[in-house]
Amino acid sequence: MIRVVIVGAGPAGMAAAYTLSNAEKRHELEVTLIDQGKRVEDRTNGDTDKAYGVSGVGAFSDGKFIFETELGKRQIGTNLGDLIGARDREYLMKAKEFFRGYYEKTIGKIERISEERLVKAKEISRIAGIHDIDYIVANDYHIGTDKLPAFMKTIQDDLERRGIRIITEQRVIDFDNKKVYTKDMRKDANSGKEESYNYDFLLLAPGRDGSTWLHQKLDEKKIAHSSRPIDIGFRIETDAAVIKHLTDIERDVKFELTHPNGDKIRTFCVCPYGFVTQERKKPEFGGLDFCLVNGESHSVNKSNNTNFALLVRMPLREEGDNAAWGRKLAEAYKEAGVQRIVLQRYGDLKMQRSSKPNKVKEWRIQPTLPEEEYMVGDVRIAMYSRIMDDIRYAIDRLSVPGLMEGLNQDSTLLYGPEIKMHGINIKTTPYLESVSMPNLYLAGDGTGFTRGIGGSSSSGILAAEGILSKL
Ligand SMILES: Cc1cc2nc3c(=O)[nH]c(=O)nc-3n(C[C@H](O)[C@H](O)[C@H](O)COP(=O)(O)OP(=O)(O)OC[C@H]3O[C@@H](n4cnc5c(N)ncnc54)[C@H](O)[C@@H]3O)c2cc1C
Repeated sequence: MIRVVIVGAGPAGMAAAYTLSNAEKRHELEVTLIDQGKRVEDRTNGDTDKAYGVSGVGAFSDGKFIFETELGKRQIGTNLGDLIGARDREYLMKAKEFFRGYYEKTIGKIERISEERLVKAKEISRIAGIHDIDYIVANDYHIGTDKLPAFMKTIQDDLERRGIRIITEQRVIDFDNKKVYTKDMRKDANSGKEESYNYDFLLLAPGRDGSTWLHQKLDEKKIAHSSRPIDIGFRIETDAAVIKHLTDIERDVKFELTHPNGDKIRTFCVCPYGFVTQERKKPEFGGLDFCLVNGESHSVNKSNNTNFALLVRMPLREEGDNAAWGRKLAEAYKEAGVQRIVLQRYGDLKMQRSSKPNKVKEWRIQPTLPEEEYMVGDVRIAMYSRIMDDIRYAIDRLSVPGLMEGLNQDSTLLYGPEIKMHGINIKTTPYLESVSMPNLYLAGDGTGFTRGIGGSSSSGILAAEGILSKL
């Protein structure tokens, strides 16, 4: 038997396992999927389980499944184009097919964007173009954070039926060219029993949270990599009505613009009628010990607000370490005494003063993040002025009739920091095999190749096909 070990049971790891289980040569393969977190049914949306376990951070994500672009200049959520050119679309389509079967069995038929919505989208694109802003429209569907775990469980259970061995609550602490070494996480991570698993092919898909661990291992083992830009910014929350005309066309409203200084700024992860959330991290699971903001929306429980990330793509110089720089930024917030998410009203930011906690009840737009999870103050406390300039510039540029008119009003809320750590650029073959260590494959958000469920699963499929091509 040929042993394949996949580390990380997020969308990338699951899609890879599925691809291997579907292959003609599947009977020659013994596939083991290892995750440090729990099985989907044992995870809860409220503590560490939210970020780790089978289906990864995807289990409690907003559940927007995006695979193709209808309008706009680029594919969403993948850097695979750098490696395989226009074939990135082929792999996104394979990822779409992977999820389609489960979706149609459990939720319903996937509809394409309607002609009526497309006509409206083209008009928004025209207005955006006048303002030199790119408007990207995806053809997506949305499941909602509340329904996702059940959906992901059908995939988990099917993978097991297909013969994939799923091992949970084992953290991979190291690997060499024959084995991975794990630690049992069930009781105390420090005293957990250690085990090892032999492999012929190893696929690492540890997710964004796992990128720090991965980076460390790449350095230790001298596996070739360089830096990729990371995204830094804030979560913006506004009246759902301010951008309803956009979210009615396409819930994940994607605008991209360029500051005169050259920085690229974009809207990301729009959660209509949603809730701002806190990304919980646990150092013993490889997570970083600080607070980051995020957002989610549910299929039934809705708020009056819409939130989205406004992010600046920060490329450092070639020799820089983008991810380490992002971590330091988050740590700077912590060192400044920020143990929770910082929240500021845009009117106060414009006046260059801190927001006051005793005023929150009077604000027209009420925060959807629970009170105990934010600190009212000044979002600039640890942010670089260049990023602050970019964010303010983007808010003003987007606040035009037809786009996000009204976004620059005083009542708009900013939460920070929001940081997407995917700063690694690992040197691989077009099948995502490391050029430094044969039979080591890499996929998903933690490897810098992707940013989203669609993209990460497409990279898992590509890596799995790479393994199959060597059999
Ligand atoms: C709040 C939130 C909302 C989001 N909403 C959306 C959305 O609506 N649409 C969308 O497309 N994307 C969304 N995303 C992003 C999306 O969830 C990720 O892009 C996707 O899950 C990445 O998949 P992955 O397999 O690369 O990694 P992950 O999903 O992060 O999975 C990695 C897995 O690896 C495990 N792992 C890590 N290191 C180790 C180790 N050393 N040993 C063992 N196991 C390990 C982790 O426990 C984890 O389960 C959201 C993310 C968040 C946080």
